[in-house]
Amino acid sequence: MSFDFLCQIALVGASGVGKTSLINRYVDDVFNLNYRTTIGVDFKTKDIEINGKSIRLQIWDTAGQERYRISISSFSIYKKVEAFIIVFDLTKENTLKEVNNYLVEINQNCPPDVLIVLAGNKCDLENQFENLEEKIKEISNEKEFKLFKTSAKDGTNVNELFYYIAKTLKEKN
Ligand code: GDP
Ligand code: MG
Repeated sequence: MSFDFLCQIALVGASGVGKTSLINRYVDDVFNLNYRTTIGVDFKTKDIEINGKSIRLQIWDTAGQERYRISISSFSIYKKVEAFIIVFDLTKENTLKEVNNYLVEINQNCPPDVLIVLAGNKCDLENQFENLEEKIKEISNEKEFKLFKTSAKDGTNVNELFYYIAKTLKEKN
């Protein structure tokens, strides 16, 4: 199938926050409770339409950096990626530290106009930590990032997250 725009998107974030689950929910509309660790990098594609234009989303999954000690900058996709989704777990405050690490790494390795969106995942769970917005402001040096509270389990905001990115990238081109 042909397409008008190609969007290269990568999900990064701590191990276990739900990167693979978000991609599986978005592309295949499935959710699996079994923990399957991703090794290295892998991608899935999904074609959507926005205002009569066909968009192909090429969505790269990455393994948790801290687990394998692989810097995303060592992946060749790093340079092609136009948008990063930095995923954290709304029930695990320590996964926000990893968000900060990725912000630094993306800053050092990517063009300044690369799109960065934050996804606080597992919003279906009760035990979410408090003062989320303030803590995000602290780690991002007051820079504003679009934040989606998502659930790969029940699907909340998953389509909205990827649609926002596709639309924003399309309008940039
Ligand atoms: P990754 O290491 O970031 O790719 O994380 P996974 O996608 O492998 O998910 C880690 C674990 O969290 C798995 O057991 C998933 O079933 C679970 N999980 C992922 N997303 C959600 C979610 O939105 N809600 C809940 N309750 N569990 C989730
Ligand atoms: Mg994974």
